[in-house]
Amino acid sequence: MDDEAPFWRTKTLEEMSPLEWESLCDGCGRCCLNKLEDWDTGEIAWTNVACRLLDGESCRCGDYPNRFEKVPDCEQLTPEVVRSIDWLPPTCGYRLVEERRELYWWHPLVSGDPDTVHAAGVSVRGRTISEEGMPLEALEDHIVRWPGRPPRKAGIGGGQRRGDDLARRPLGEKS
Ligand code: SF4
Ligand code: SF4
Repeated sequence: MDDEAPFWRTKTLEEMSPLEWESLCDGCGRCCLNKLEDWDTGEIAWTNVACRLLDGESCRCGDYPNRFEKVPDCEQLTPEVVRSIDWLPPTCGYRLVEERRELYWWHPLVSGDPDTVHAAGVSVRGRTISEEGMPLEALEDHIVRWPGRPPRKAGIGGGQRRGDDLARRPLGEKS
C-alpha cells in the first residue's frame, strides 16, 4: 500500500526540485495568452490571442529552452513570481499549490495522462489565434473571460463552490 503523500502536497514551491517544479505545470497554455491591464484599476483582461511561440494544438511552448531570447516578456515563473502576480489562471498548478489547494483530476500528475488537461477543456487547444502579425491595438477585439475561470466541462463548477472560489472577479463583466 502506498500511503506516501505526493510531493505537491508535502513540499512548498521553494522546496521542489527543478523536475518537480516543471511537472507542476499542467500544460494548459493559459498563461501564454496575451492579457490587457486597465491602467486605472489594474484589472486584467484576458484575450484569446496566444504568444507567437505557443503551439495551439499541444498548448506547449514551441521553443521552451530559448523562450526568453525569443520572447523577452515571457514571464519566468518562480515561487516569488507565483505569489506576486494575480493573473495566473485559477486552474494553474503553481497557483493551486501556493494556495494549498489540491491539484485537479485532469492534472497529469494526478491522472498520469498528459491529455486529460485537453479532455477537461482546461487547455487552450483550438481556442486561440496567434499574435503573429497582429497589431497591439487589435487585442481589445479579442478579450475573453474563459481563461480566468475553471471550465464547466471540468466538473468543478456548479455544486463544488471550491472551484468557483478559485475564479478571480469576472473580467470585463458589468454585474
Ligand atoms: S497557467 Fe500554469 S499550469 Fe497552465 S501552462 Fe501556465 S504555468 Fe502551466
Ligand atoms: S515564450 Fe513560450 S512559455 Fe513564454 S509565453 Fe510564449 S509560448 Fe508561453
